[in-house]
Amino acid sequence: MKLNELQLRSFRNYGELALDFDPGVNLIIGDNAQGKTNLLEAIAFLGSGRSFRAQKTKEMVLFGEEFAEIAGKVDSQNRQQSLRWLLFSGSRPRQLWLNGVKQKTAGNLSGVLPTVLFCPEDLMVLKAGASQRRRMGDYVLCQLRPNYDAALTEYNRILDQKNRILKDHFENPGVLEILPEYNTRLCQVGALLISYRARFYDSLGKAAAVYHNQFSGGNEEFRLEYTTVSSVSDPFAPVSKLTEDLQEHLSRHYRAELETAQCLTGPHKDDFTVTLSGIDLKAYGSQGQTRTAAISLKLAQRELMGREWGEEPVLLLDDVLSELDPGRQDFVLNQIVSGQVFITCCEPGRFTKMGKTIEIQKGKALFN
Ligand code: ATP
Ligand code: MG
Repeated sequence: MKLNELQLRSFRNYGELALDFDPGVNLIIGDNAQGKTNLLEAIAFLGSGRSFRAQKTKEMVLFGEEFAEIAGKVDSQNRQQSLRWLLFSGSRPRQLWLNGVKQKTAGNLSGVLPTVLFCPEDLMVLKAGASQRRRMGDYVLCQLRPNYDAALTEYNRILDQKNRILKDHFENPGVLEILPEYNTRLCQVGALLISYRARFYDSLGKAAAVYHNQFSGGNEEFRLEYTTVSSVSDPFAPVSKLTEDLQEHLSRHYRAELETAQCLTGPHKDDFTVTLSGIDLKAYGSQGQTRTAAISLKLAQRELMGREWGEEPVLLLDDVLSELDPGRQDFVLNQIVSGQVFITCCEPGRFTKMGKTIEIQKGKALFN
């Protein structure tokens, strides 16, 4: 997949911007707070309908404006395709056009412009809290499996409603009548999430192990294990069995959930662990080991997506190379000889010779 052209209007700190890109490496340079990460966010959003940094759509619209537009021309699936999004600062739902045809959902986007983002926080993701790891996994899995994306949205919606019921029940005990209905649905959709995740993390772990092995010279055995609620003994079991497991789990926590007025456990607390030759990385890994493992995970994400569609997804490296020592920089760069890459950095240094360089200053491109 290649992004050939991008147009922005009132997106973040960009008024109007039109850029064309190199099919290989694109280096985005500029001082702090000029709009480099905003540009990567626009590219990632264009292909997925998801932002890796905004909590609310409104944040992506230029201050004081009513809507933002992101449009692009893409080479993928053996043809030229076009994408266009309108995002509103008010309550109007976002709008998407794919090849000029208005879409009801982002479901048809799968495989058009998938992206893998790699940023400095990802380097420490294996030491971070579980929510960061879930977010990283979900970012890839949602692009790979639109049905997973839909299930995740549905799960979070039900979870929100259930939380509201739990909060309200002290004052209004009548709301508890509808709780079983929400619990049933939560277990059904939660079981789907577990089923998708089990398969995804299995493939991801195997692909990452190959990279880690190359990187560490075969000295460490990388293993990734997906962890979910304790009542699930086999996450690969049929969805009907997983639903029962979750129901059993919820009934065990029924009292505690009422007392704390919170949804305590469930797939929304899922995580994964990485061990190197049997030693838990989160507890014992050195900084170098943690970084190497994180790089292996990122390259594995890119590989899974490439396998799925037969084309390399677009790689977005946000300030990450300058965080790495030359050995690790070379490892990453040597693995991405093919496919399109966007690299942001403040000090171009040794990367300037590759592909196209675009300088960003206060939401404008200087040399284009
Ligand atoms: P750094 O090198 O520090 O990472 P950057 O070039 O990646 O910087 P960005 O994160 O892209 O910078 O942000 C640039 C600026 O965009 C910030 O100063 C921020 O205040 C501004 N900004 C973010 N959202 C909006 C918005 N909705 N409207 C206007 N400006 C915004
Ligand atoms: Mg930035």
